[in-house]
Amino acid sequence: MKKFTGLFIIISIFLFTTSFSQGTSEEDDRIRVIAIFAHPDDGDAKMGGTAALLAEMGYAVKFVSITNGDAGHHKEGGGMLAKRRRAEAAEAGRRLGIDEYKVLDNHDGELLPELHIRQQVIREIRSWNADIVLGLRPNDYHPDHRYAGVLVQDAAYMVVVPNVTPDTPPLRKNPVFLYMADGFQKPNPFSHDIVVGIDETFEKKVNAFDAHESQVYEWLPWVSGNLDKVPDDPEARKDFLRKGFIGRMTVSDEQRAGLEKWYGKEQAAKFRYAESFEICEYGKQPTEKEIRELFPMFRKN
Ligand SMILES: [Zn+2]
Repeated sequence: MKKFTGLFIIISIFLFTTSFSQGTSEEDDRIRVIAIFAHPDDGDAKMGGTAALLAEMGYAVKFVSITNGDAGHHKEGGGMLAKRRRAEAAEAGRRLGIDEYKVLDNHDGELLPELHIRQQVIREIRSWNADIVLGLRPNDYHPDHRYAGVLVQDAAYMVVVPNVTPDTPPLRKNPVFLYMADGFQKPNPFSHDIVVGIDETFEKKVNAFDAHESQVYEWLPWVSGNLDKVPDDPEARKDFLRKGFIGRMTVSDEQRAGLEKWYGKEQAAKFRYAESFEICEYGKQPTEKEIRELFPMFRKN
């Protein structure tokens, strides 16, 4: 009898948790965005401003790092570094105002487009019930970035196929897949299809980056030989970061044209900072009207 009571409790807990999770997703009619990349901080750098804007506008936004970042340091490594970076990512997510910043437990510097990792990506997209999926382009100097891009591309379409990764219910409609920007020219330069002005959330982006201490104040300056230039004072450090960002994020000529398309000439001229996205050919192909629906900052125009 005791055995049956135990079984009953287990089944009840299972039914309660499944109905609870289904209940929340059905009642939640927010537009759902998921960005999937290689390392804890990639998403912040490439689309932190847009993610913060969408979150402010009521979107459900999730970041997923496929690797745990356990190779990204000159003195630390392994499980302790992964733990540190997971905490930094959680703090960055909080500062951006997004719903969740998840870090999957795959090794940094060793990512390959393997089937079991593709399945992890498919599960993430499905369980988030994503309307928009953002990934990296598979042209990049870093093999983890390249393969993170391939993994997301390989999940496009498969997310609607019920017999693939059947432990997670398939999506009924293929999301829009977008690439985050990069400067690589071969084999194809990045196309600035969608350009978002991020002046409003620029400081949130700086603050999110500031949370990745092991990276922005230790590892990345060490790689570029600037470790001695990192200030000790927390505000001076943030300013150091801000100045580094400003150089890289100022609106380019290509971005200016995109801003004018989406915001109109007058409003576009006011932006100093922007983030760009390219439409991936493998997911749903949105019309211009649908892009304006998906990106609420463009709706007024
Ligand atoms: Zn990276």
